[in-house]
Amino acid sequence: MYDDESIYNIYRNVKSLFRTFENGVRALFFQTDQLQHLLSALSSKGYNCIGPQVRDDAIIYDELHAIDQLPQGFNDQQAPGSYTLSRNNSTKFFDWANGPQAIKPNLFSPREKIWQSEQAADGAISFNTTEPDPRPIAIIGARACDVAAMKIQDQHFLEQEFIDPYYKTRRESLLVVAVNCSHPADTCFCYSTGDGPFVDDGADIVLTELNQGFLIDTYTDQGKEILKALTLLESTSEHIEQAESIKAKASAQKRSLPAFEIKTRLFNELNNDAWHEIATKCLSCGNCTSVCPTCFCHSETEVPELDGKSSTHYRQWDSCFSQGHSYIHGITIRSETSQRYRQWLTHKFASWHEQYGRSGCVGCGRCITWCPVGIDVTESLKNFEERRRD
Ligand code: SF4
Ligand code: SF4
Repeated sequence: MYDDESIYNIYRNVKSLFRTFENGVRALFFQTDQLQHLLSALSSKGYNCIGPQVRDDAIIYDELHAIDQLPQGFNDQQAPGSYTLSRNNSTKFFDWANGPQAIKPNLFSPREKIWQSEQAADGAISFNTTEPDPRPIAIIGARACDVAAMKIQDQHFLEQEFIDPYYKTRRESLLVVAVNCSHPADTCFCYSTGDGPFVDDGADIVLTELNQGFLIDTYTDQGKEILKALTLLESTSEHIEQAESIKAKASAQKRSLPAFEIKTRLFNELNNDAWHEIATKCLSCGNCTSVCPTCFCHSETEVPELDGKSSTHYRQWDSCFSQGHSYIHGITIRSETSQRYRQWLTHKFASWHEQYGRSGCVGCGRCITWCPVGIDVTESLKNFEERRRD
């Protein structure tokens, strides 16, 4: 008998085989000295390049002009509530797992002006909508989990009845250069969610960093256009073997989602004592939702000017852990931390299936690393399985 995980792994292998046949060609290869050409080609096509770099002892994404800004020779160690960067002897640029950001802040801005209203001398009020900056962005170094999260956010912002114009403008001009993971953190579990460590689709260009250069795959016309600026070689069997060994290493992750049917279990456990137990630890700080690449809750604020004649309307990220997020007509619906943690976990792993046909978790592990008290979402879920067996 096959269990769910074996069936899923067979499906992934078959899917991967089909991809090889569909492409019909092996990935191409470029030597490391071509990486700067890739950045220059993107810039010359008008893209504002955003890429990973070391800042404040973490890897963050910011404007990237030259490859010497990349975190070459850095490695991250992650654990519940802990993130440490250290130097290693590697000459690789992408030998780390991830930092606190994914693609999300570049598409769904943490805070943005939506409109400005002004009252004229005759009392008439006018509203001026703010348009997002249409300059194309190229994200360099996105991980498989980040690309999977972007696809989920696409569903939310672009594929529902109401399309978000801000997200849409940015998404249409975004080019993603993903880099397959070689070094999963101890907090990663993308292999068990089916979202990593290698990118299946959703990116324009996918790189795999080898010892002497990069394998490169393209999936879109925009990606193929950029490739023309590079000196590319046919990949060799040795390159493919290296890539396979990197994939195997990156797939061996310490954490995984529990095997039981999470959605039904969570819906059946709304009154479980586990919610109160976790609330004795959880600070309701919202760090987990800020770093989560799929969370999309937001609030809206009107900021009046002192002249009393104009005001600005902002949209900003909110969290189901904030009291205000469940405030409706004088009542805070989820006043207790236990209710807010339950809301987060049951939405992400249960009702998300009904909204978007899959869970809202891509296994990036960020909520585990950046939780100040080290609450581990995989352990929270396993807790329900253990309680059932009691
Ligand atoms: S719930 Fe946690 S592990 Fe899952 S996608 Fe969000 S931050 Fe990543
Ligand atoms: S689970 Fe951790 S990160 Fe999330 S709100 Fe609670 S204390 Fe903050």
